[in-house]
Amino acid sequence: MKTVTLNNGVEMPILGFGVYQIPPEQTEQAVAEALDAGYRLLDTAAAYGNEEAVGRAIKSSGIPREELFVTTKLWVQDAPAEGNTRRAFETSLHKLGLDHLDLYLMHQPYGDVYGQWRAMESLHRDGRVKAIGVANFYPDRLVDLVLNNEITPAVNQIETHPFFQRTDEQELMREHGVQIQSWGGFAEGRNDLFTHPLLSRIGEQHGKSVAQVVLRWLVQRGVVTIPKSVRPERMAENIDVFDFELTADQLAAIAGLDTGASLFFDHRDPEMVSWLSKRRLTD
Ligand code: NAP
Repeated sequence: MKTVTLNNGVEMPILGFGVYQIPPEQTEQAVAEALDAGYRLLDTAAAYGNEEAVGRAIKSSGIPREELFVTTKLWVQDAPAEGNTRRAFETSLHKLGLDHLDLYLMHQPYGDVYGQWRAMESLHRDGRVKAIGVANFYPDRLVDLVLNNEITPAVNQIETHPFFQRTDEQELMREHGVQIQSWGGFAEGRNDLFTHPLLSRIGEQHGKSVAQVVLRWLVQRGVVTIPKSVRPERMAENIDVFDFELTADQLAAIAGLDTGASLFFDHRDPEMVSWLSKRRLTD
């Protein structure tokens, strides 16, 4: 698997498996099938409620720990953050059945962000997590976080797909040494992505599916991607994107699909800030 090198030298697979919206009772099997298909990067979150099932699949796979790259995410925490963040981290690690994480992300740019970040820095210094990063940070918040803290986030995981391409943000992140990671690479199928005429035509030119064209486009841009599927045939399809290359003309045509706007919601919308911040995990 092709990898990217994060700003602290850690190698991260460029393509992995996301488990958002996989119900806990289906997650162990899905992750086991993804590992069988060759995925080595797993992306979960405390908020997904399926960390224990991910952990069971890891354990029963027998794959050596050093071959896996496991990410989970810290949910929004109130002050005082140091204790809360450490507790949340240990809970996630316990549920996953691991003794360290590869990547720990702050899931939302809300709450006591600076307190949370400093607690994450201290977990990193203690060797509990190889890299720390953020998710859903727009450029202003990201640059402020970079400028006012010791450790620069290794990753910013943001909505990135053909209809919301984030190329300017990717450039800014590159300048600051932050690796872009796509969530919702297929836009969860919105805008009829899987039957989109342009993407279908490009797929036909390579004998590949629309899903493969989209993932290849992300990989060629240097964007880490984590497609989700509960179907083994799609898991195999989604990881089979390393034997063809999109041409400059095809990349230019896909660039024309960018609307510059989210297909989900804007993390800067005050209603979303309130709604997400009120959500508390039960444990
Ligand atoms: P996604 O990967 O864009 O799309 C998943 C959808 O596409 C599912 O409905 C899946 O259906 C379908 N699909 C997958 N492969 C396909 C294929 N080859 N052909 C046709 N349909 C296919 O959506 P996502 O799960 O929201 O995003 C990916 C990952 O990003 C998540 O799992 C999660 O790890 C992460 N994420 C992070 C955040 C954040 O705030 N940080 C937010 C959202 C997601 P089936 O399962 O039925 O195949």
